[in-house]
Amino acid sequence: TETLLRLENVYKHFHVRGTGWFGRGGSYVHAVDGVSLDVRAGETLGLVGETGCGKSTLARCVARLHDVTDGSIVFQGRDITRLPARKMRPVRQDIQMIFQDPYGSLNPRRRVGSIIGDPFAIHGTESRRARRLRVQELMELVGLNPEHYNRFPADFSGGQRQRIGIARALALRPKMIICDEPISALDVSIQAQIINLLADLQDELGLTYVFIAHDLSVVQHVSDRIAVMYLGQVVELAPTDELMNRPRHPYTNALLSAIPVADPDRAEQRERVVLAGDMPSPISPPEGCRFHPRCPKAAPYCVENVPLLEPRLGDRDDHVASCHFPVAEGEDIALESPSIDE
Ligand code: SF4
Ligand code: MG
Repeated sequence: TETLLRLENVYKHFHVRGTGWFGRGGSYVHAVDGVSLDVRAGETLGLVGETGCGKSTLARCVARLHDVTDGSIVFQGRDITRLPARKMRPVRQDIQMIFQDPYGSLNPRRRVGSIIGDPFAIHGTESRRARRLRVQELMELVGLNPEHYNRFPADFSGGQRQRIGIARALALRPKMIICDEPISALDVSIQAQIINLLADLQDELGLTYVFIAHDLSVVQHVSDRIAVMYLGQVVELAPTDELMNRPRHPYTNALLSAIPVADPDRAEQRERVVLAGDMPSPISPPEGCRFHPRCPKAAPYCVENVPLLEPRLGDRDDHVASCHFPVAEGEDIALESPSIDE
């Protein structure tokens, strides 16, 4: 399969000013800290991790809403990491984003037709009439009534507003859409409709998705492969079935244990693993394996040595995890993580 997007050792650090006793020089938030991964044409890559793990920052780097601190972003074989704005414009058409809060990203004082048609106004030279027809086609494509062209965002329900966001993202026929928690703000009854719409659009238009979420319960159903992020790094990456059945990283295992099993064919419910504490601050990530303060399997070796992201326990090349003591099938894991720092 063709690689559409390649991230090579991407870093994004934000400078924060020093405050109070914490020091004058300020410090750096290591939001994204050395991420390498490929996205294949036509697939859905799920990107999962707790709030603050860096997944949205990574997405924004890909869409070039942020400049990266280091590393490179290669799209369709072309390094776009430092393309100047003028050369970036056509690439930007190919990589679009859908956001969690469709309402927050829609100007309440503008008519829906002109919101969806914005990209044409910015990029194209089409006449108003041609533009209106294209917008109405898009509205139909995403399941909105094209006659509601002149209504305002407030006239639409939450699910319909997300459809407006999707229509706008599709306007310039992108190759890739980064979906940043696109259903987290919606009623459960509406979530499946939006998921189905995204799946239909993918088939119809040959789209590639990066699908971001804070838990595995949704991404497991939509993703071909899943990358799990923790504190700015990918800690495990595998095809979805493989990741769900043979999680190697204790963090992935803990995330999985939190999902109720609805599928009667699947193995019985894993016992829930409760992680100690919260994710540490990305300003000064822990030494060695950054998961060690919360890991139920942590050993002194983990504090000193950084684990590489590579195949473990004889897994195929497409299943990689960064853990010195990966989880074996059927292994009994402590249900509460002791903290080895205490
Ligand atoms: Fe846990 Fe050690 Fe593996 Fe890190 S390397 S996840 S601390 S067992
Ligand atoms: Mg699909």
